[in-house]
Amino acid sequence: MSEKKRIALLGSTGSIGTQTLEVAELFPELLQIEVLTAHSNADLLIRQAKKFQPNIVVIGDETKYEYVKEALWDDDIKVYAGRQALLDVVQMGCVDMVLSAIVGVAGLAPIYKAIECGKQIALANKETLVVAGELMTRTAYENGVNLYPVDSEHSAIFQCLAGEFHNPVSRLIITASGGPFRGKKKEELLHVTKEQALKHPNWSMGSKITIDSATLMNKGLEVIEAKWLFSVPLEKIDVVVHPQSIVHSMVEFQDGSIKAQLGLPDMKLPIQYALTYPARQPNNFPRLNFAEHPTLTFEQPDLETFPCLRLAVEASRQGGCMPCVLNAANEAAVGLFLRDQIGFYDIPRLIEEALAHTDFCRPTTVDEYLEIDKNTKQTILQSFSK
Ligand code: NDP
Ligand code: MG
Repeated sequence: MSEKKRIALLGSTGSIGTQTLEVAELFPELLQIEVLTAHSNADLLIRQAKKFQPNIVVIGDETKYEYVKEALWDDDIKVYAGRQALLDVVQMGCVDMVLSAIVGVAGLAPIYKAIECGKQIALANKETLVVAGELMTRTAYENGVNLYPVDSEHSAIFQCLAGEFHNPVSRLIITASGGPFRGKKKEELLHVTKEQALKHPNWSMGSKITIDSATLMNKGLEVIEAKWLFSVPLEKIDVVVHPQSIVHSMVEFQDGSIKAQLGLPDMKLPIQYALTYPARQPNNFPRLNFAEHPTLTFEQPDLETFPCLRLAVEASRQGGCMPCVLNAANEAAVGLFLRDQIGFYDIPRLIEEALAHTDFCRPTTVDEYLEIDKNTKQTILQSFSK
């Protein structure tokens, strides 16, 4: 008889967070939600808390603390607020695994603290590995912590590697849907609006990652994520555009054999695998029917039209602080685009400028990374606040 796995779910009110709770609901005998956290969506956090009865909830926005506390007055749930609370809850003895579904660099410090405390990690927050992959993976290794991927491509690779741990990988092949602007040229995309960029053909996700998918930055971040998760050098990581999003990624081995993981585009499957690994539990998710998907196609990414993918790979090749600067500039630029303050091609332009103006350094602590992140964002945002 196995005991329940006790989960701290960071970012429970987002796209991954809500789907994680759908998975948790399916396996009450295996999974117990101990901690739920949100940034500002107090009402959804309260509804989730009433339903899942966690030990603790954290609301990031401290001005909403009283509101949440009052709403959960009759429930036996502790309520905390603020950034420090996120660092405190991941360390608690009642938590076995932390699933990080926070968006952006805000996920960095809580996950680092959880790794230091030896918690198992299910990672959706790819920015953690993009910014500080070396520090995170080394600290995980030193603390005997496994990082289970939630991102669908990395879950696919992880599944392809099952049983192959002694066989060297000759290539990782990460699939990309191509986003809403696949097949278009730069001239056609100069004036696209955020509404157009937010219409992803296959996946329903939070707004930041949806814009990242439209620029192909998401694929660049995923290449960096894969490099750290699987210890595979950039030269051995390829990206192939696969518009149907059925093949979630592939691994080629030394003998030339390629393994792929397939399924409908549904994040609940990789979430479930990360939470219940190594078991494959039965579920009621819709199944892939090949008759309904008779054509699976593959093409090269267009790096001229989508320069963000190239910028990400270059930043990772340079290493040190560069991926942190890339990520910070991207977060700032995507925020500006979502507020209609810049155009679509200003996103790669601002990132390229930020990288060009950076003095190379090698941060060694989370605080150093966060300082670089803050300075990069400030420099970009200041020029738009005048
Ligand atoms: P969403 O924007 O939908 O959700 C983000 C979550 O993080 C919300 O719970 C939000 O709280 C919380 N949050 C936002 N800002 C902060 C902050 N500063 N501090 C603490 N918490 C914060 O994002 P997604 O679920 O789409 O993505 C989450 C992560 O997973 C991203 O890193 C993304 O790249 C990755 N990912 C997502 C996939 C998807 O299908 N959505 C697929 C693969 C990876 P509130 O709601 O209160 O604002
Ligand atoms: Mg992905």
